[in-house]
Amino acid sequence: MNGRSSFFEDGQFLYSVLHDYSYIRIIIHHIDARGGLLHMSKEAILFTANRPETIMSHGEGMRMWDTEGREYLDFIGGWAVNSLGHSSAVVQQALAEQSARLVCASPGFYNKPMLAFAEQLTALSGFDRVFFGSTGAEANESAIKLARKFGSVHRNGAFEIITTLGGFHGRTLATMAATGKPHWQTLFAPKMPGFVHVPFNDIDAMRQAVSERTCAIMLEPVQGEGGVHVADPAYIAALRELCDEQGILLIFDEIQTGLGRTGKLFAYEHYGVKPDIMTLGKGIGGGFPLSAMLTKAQYDLFEAGDQGGTYTGQPLAMAVGRAVVDEIVSRDLSSHAYELGAYLKDKLQAWRVRFGLRNIRGLGLLLGFDLPEPSGKEIVAACMARGLLINSPSPSVIRIMPPLIVTREDIDQMLATLEHVLQRLNLEQA
Ligand SMILES: *Cc1c(COP(=O)(O)O)cnc(C)c1O
Repeated sequence: MNGRSSFFEDGQFLYSVLHDYSYIRIIIHHIDARGGLLHMSKEAILFTANRPETIMSHGEGMRMWDTEGREYLDFIGGWAVNSLGHSSAVVQQALAEQSARLVCASPGFYNKPMLAFAEQLTALSGFDRVFFGSTGAEANESAIKLARKFGSVHRNGAFEIITTLGGFHGRTLATMAATGKPHWQTLFAPKMPGFVHVPFNDIDAMRQAVSERTCAIMLEPVQGEGGVHVADPAYIAALRELCDEQGILLIFDEIQTGLGRTGKLFAYEHYGVKPDIMTLGKGIGGGFPLSAMLTKAQYDLFEAGDQGGTYTGQPLAMAVGRAVVDEIVSRDLSSHAYELGAYLKDKLQAWRVRFGLRNIRGLGLLLGFDLPEPSGKEIVAACMARGLLINSPSPSVIRIMPPLIVTREDIDQMLATLEHVLQRLNLEQA
């Protein structure tokens, strides 16, 4: 038996007896009603994040259940990903139909869902060309490559991209370098060169940073991971002017703000300013790994082989993306996000004095506020213990980003739990 394992089922229990060279581990797994395993070892997962002990089992709509059967109202939404909620019928159907037809044609061929989705997305966004990827970071890598290509073709080899402090663009080496987190600047040295960071919403700093080395400015219209900071309309308008005047590209990272989250299909619509490149991710796949980089016809500059990827335009992802976007548009979930976001924001405003909440901010269903003390972690844990999932991107900030299908009743339930937790943590002001 050495080095092998044997599995046998015994009613409700599955015993897996694993023999190791130095010791014998006997793990007794409990099987829940849906066949999930209750007590599984987490040792095999490489450590990258502090996670609660909970193991998530299944989800439906606004709710998710763990393997112990506890129910959670989900205001994290898979990290602003599950635009249509958990296990939506739309995603299930697209996956079932397309997986029976064609899963992967190879990136070397066109396929039907790829062409259909590209047509739909360019028509909706007002861009002319799209490159598909699987993750947000991959879409941003494509944007960075395209901006550098533009610099080499049109600006004497200019390669620098100016980004903003507090901005987040992903976890690949280039997108980490683009990200404006001060403590990331020394991580995994040597850092990818070619990125300059300036304060967000500061047009003078941006003007000063532009030089003949600059090929693009890249930012999120609403900084998400940085704590929900909304760009001023005058700032965005001035950035567009600056880019036009200098002949450089304006890139919007709409991976978190895109596809209805902010109350418009794309956040750039709030500003009446169109970027030259826009990246999408998260909500576009409704939980399926999918991202996109969109641009105008005049920046269709890549030569064969400059950019690609095994999963670019993969039929399964394309079919899901198309179905998700169709659903967001046909149900006008952007307007729903706008209305429900306003409803939630009003309720939070009413707690400003009572709980000392400050800077209640955001657009649509991407909302955040500052706490009177750095108790974000405690609040997140206490909410979770009471069946509510919310996020604290930094110790004094709470971020709310539910699926776009959230209802007023869900919001009322969420607020009742949050109220209880804020009271219990003694945040109530005397
Ligand atoms: C999440 C996020 C990314 C990275 O997306 P991944 O899918 O994790 O690679 C990039 N930019 C923004 C604004 C994001 O919110």
